[in-house]
Amino acid sequence: MLRGVVLDAVLVFIAVLASANEIRATLRTSDTVLELAAGESAPRVVSLSNGQHQFINSAPEALINRVEVAGRWLPLHWSFVPEATQHDSHRVAFVYENQSPHLRLTWEWQARSGFGPIEHALRINNLDSREIWLPLQSSFQFSWNCPTTEALENSFIEKGAGKPSLVGTHVEPIPAGYKWIGTSSTYAHPKANEPREIIPWFLVQEASGARDGWYVGVEFSGRVQTALERDKRQLKGTVGLNPNPGPLRTRVTAGEIFETPTVFLGATHGGLDAAGNVLRRWVREVLGNPATWQNPNFPLLVNNSWGGGMKVNEQIAEAMIRDATDLGLEMFHVDAGWFRGVGDWYPDPQKFPQGLAQIADYAHQHGLKFGLWVDWTQAGLDENPGALNAKDPKVRDWLLNDLPPDWKPEEFKGETIDISVPAAKAWAQDEVERIVSDYHLDMLEHDGYLVAQGCKRRDHPHAPPGERKWVYKDEGFYWVDSSNSTDVSYHATRAYYDIYSHLRKEHPGLLLEVCNDGGRMVDFGSATHADYFSITDSYDPVSNRQAFYDASHVLPSAMLESYVEKWPTPNLGNFIYMLRSGMMGWLTIMIDTTQWTPEQHVAAKEEIKLYKAKLRSLIRDANLYHISPRPDGIQWDGIEYFDPKSNRGVVYAFRGSKNDESTHTYFLEGLHADAEYRVDFHDNTAPDQVLTGRELMDRGLRVTLARPETSELIFLELLR
Ligand SMILES: [Zn+2]
Repeated sequence: MLRGVVLDAVLVFIAVLASANEIRATLRTSDTVLELAAGESAPRVVSLSNGQHQFINSAPEALINRVEVAGRWLPLHWSFVPEATQHDSHRVAFVYENQSPHLRLTWEWQARSGFGPIEHALRINNLDSREIWLPLQSSFQFSWNCPTTEALENSFIEKGAGKPSLVGTHVEPIPAGYKWIGTSSTYAHPKANEPREIIPWFLVQEASGARDGWYVGVEFSGRVQTALERDKRQLKGTVGLNPNPGPLRTRVTAGEIFETPTVFLGATHGGLDAAGNVLRRWVREVLGNPATWQNPNFPLLVNNSWGGGMKVNEQIAEAMIRDATDLGLEMFHVDAGWFRGVGDWYPDPQKFPQGLAQIADYAHQHGLKFGLWVDWTQAGLDENPGALNAKDPKVRDWLLNDLPPDWKPEEFKGETIDISVPAAKAWAQDEVERIVSDYHLDMLEHDGYLVAQGCKRRDHPHAPPGERKWVYKDEGFYWVDSSNSTDVSYHATRAYYDIYSHLRKEHPGLLLEVCNDGGRMVDFGSATHADYFSITDSYDPVSNRQAFYDASHVLPSAMLESYVEKWPTPNLGNFIYMLRSGMMGWLTIMIDTTQWTPEQHVAAKEEIKLYKAKLRSLIRDANLYHISPRPDGIQWDGIEYFDPKSNRGVVYAFRGSKNDESTHTYFLEGLHADAEYRVDFHDNTAPDQVLTGRELMDRGLRVTLARPETSELIFLELLR
């Protein structure tokens, strides 16, 4: 209903200009105004505006100008087909055709919400009777006019991957001569001295003042690249599939459609948090799964069996379930260790003699949901019926690489199959369907190197590898890098999305967790096809806060999961600090809580109660402000939530390890300057106070904590 109402506010103008033979259209949300034009041989973005500041684009979209047919490159001559133009209150599509080979190109922009960014994709439909091969078509290019004197900065966010880096959130100046490239793939495996993968998104804004700017993000998990450079007069760049290592070619059979990764383009002003407060809501409304967000208990509170490691069994699981119930948790999540072997996704009969559904039912009887870890694209060596055996000739052809004869899977890592192969995809789809149904799952977590991004095979749907191939082992997996890597990831990512879309349709309440050895596939495509992310594979308080600080700039907090693992807690304040470091978004406790002391139990129970009563609604709905530098574990750090609708908020205050700094002042944001707020120190580290918004924003909120590595939650409420 709401969506229909807001869309009425989206205006579209179509006008034929008398001077040029050019159709123009405008798409508008409350944040972003986009003027588009259809030239005779190519479309272009004319301008982008936030309502105050207009960015003028000087380049038409660079459409591919050749395709390969039967081994020969043929030139393309695109010409606009005015009668095929489609437009309504929220969508503009300009259509171009090439006669021989017969291809139809649709250049589409869509405003799916009344606020936030506008999405863009480009489709090439092969209407010819012949198979064609396309060179790389990027999703979007821009060349904004940009006066030399304008001071600009580029912001981008790293994935938390295995462990957050020292920087994580980058804000850097864009001087003349600036050149920057960001990349993202299905599995970030950082190498020393190389830039880390980013959550595929960046924001360019004025370095001071109104901070007018714009951002672009990619709704795709495969290998993509964002590129930005500044010369004297222009700020130029491209966004889309990663051209390296190239040259990329992709096959489009007769009747098939190639579609670029969808990008979204938004205008903004007011800085990084202002942009984030629009973007996070937009991701929730437009990309998120409505069925997931309808549950007021999303994000859930979870206990995960990895606290006991691979040794999980029926007795351990049942004891953890009973304790999770007592603590007030809402889901029990069985991690690795439950299966017969890698690729053999059946419960180990020694550990679970009555099967896994029995454990799920036990959790359900205790009022908990039941989640399960499955690395469902990994082949092993088990020979049981139903197992994905790497030596089975059928499975061998699905693998990305030939395995050495002495190859063995690791404890919970095998060899990835390429799910873009139709038979492999069908197997995987049936297998996840069987697992979800047979084991009575409410949540399915995947892990490891799930979606291929490089493959040696020549008989798969993707392009064959080039002459030069690099095969190596890293993070326990074999990798193949070649000119076809991006195309491999393009096809495998589409297959992954198909499998999860199908699974969601069959199981509407099912939750899907994206974990790829931590936060290695955190992007807007995964955000569209699953529900929440493991944001890093390091689980200490500082790593959790760093990964959250970074990812929460662009993704809804509720979708950002922190695993809290056992950490030295000499006093109860340290214990609560450890828990709260994972309580800013989705909390999964990865500790055998039956080992906690009675005192820790009572404290954890209180924190869980508090999360449900006061924190969860803010995590779901409130604006988020990064009110400290990025956590380093030494200094103080903190974040603020404030919900302008309910006029309530909270400050999470963390004191680092530094011994001589017992007091810190946070400058709050998003409050009404003249209004009064009740300020309630939850742990009673200070008496309750009444302060004006101006005092809290300009003079700041002083917090005093007697001991290092402790925390406080300060609740805010507008007084009427
Ligand atoms: Zn392949």
